[in-house]
Amino acid sequence: MKTTINDLLEREFSSILQRLFGQAEKELLAVVRRVRRCEACGRPFVDGSRNKTRRWCEMRSCGNRAKVRRLRQRRREAVAKA
Ligand SMILES: [Zn+2]
Repeated sequence: MKTTINDLLEREFSSILQRLFGQAEKELLAVVRRVRRCEACGRPFVDGSRNKTRRWCEMRSCGNRAKVRRLRQRRREAVAKA
């Protein structure tokens, strides 16, 4: 069977596609594995932190709110004990 230029192109093209999709799949999985739910508002977010320990979708809003709430709780407990 004679190999035509179309056969060559097709083979080349499908191997490029396979490589591309393989890479895209890996990257997509890496992102999906980093999806967390915000401890304050419950919204999902992608944890891009190096040690994967982010707890809030946004530090400025939810992170601060959670910290303030914990501080109030601790104060309340201290008052209750006194
Ligand atoms: Zn949040």
